[in-house]
Amino acid sequence: MEQMDGTSVTACERCPELCASRSRIVNGVGPEDAAIVFVGEAPGATEDERGEPFVGRSGDVLDNALRDVGLARTDVRITNCVRCRPPDNRDPTSEELANCESYLDRELELVDPDVIVTLGKVPSEHLLDRSVGITSEAGSVEEVRIGGQSRRVLLSVHPAATLYDRSQRSTFEETIATAADLGGAGGSGGQSRLGEYE
Ligand code: URA
Repeated sequence: MEQMDGTSVTACERCPELCASRSRIVNGVGPEDAAIVFVGEAPGATEDERGEPFVGRSGDVLDNALRDVGLARTDVRITNCVRCRPPDNRDPTSEELANCESYLDRELELVDPDVIVTLGKVPSEHLLDRSVGITSEAGSVEEVRIGGQSRRVLLSVHPAATLYDRSQRSTFEETIATAADLGGAGGSGGQSRLGEYE
């Protein structure tokens, strides 16, 4: 049985292995008219437990980088390519990515953001449908067709990369600043710059 209610998947059994090990389906969070959508790979242990994307250590890195550019986590939308945690935090298989693709397509169609930020190699390769050297390509912007629509995609290293390689920190922070610029210019998502209040 499969069911989607707006941007949320409420029931799905497309991936037998993920169904067997997940605690829950982890849907995207944030405004349904956000100008910026961050797309990660798949939920980890903390996300599976709490039912929200990027709430573990990677989420702290993302939240801090957003704050540095005057954005709150609640100003942006955060989601994943795959909505159920792969066992032992393995990468999602290409079949799992394909099984979950229509849900992400639908979410992006409904939110209709100014910019999509791919967090890491897996979501970058999935949305661009090509191999990506994420360390060298981070910060670049590409127009990509997603669900029949042309979308602006900004490539980013995964926030966790900054934890094991300090040199990735400035790359990540600069990419988040670019995301804020690209998402702030049009004003369609109601992003509020909080800098002056902090
Ligand atoms: N890493 C991801 O790619 N997604 C999450 O939700 C958390 C960590």
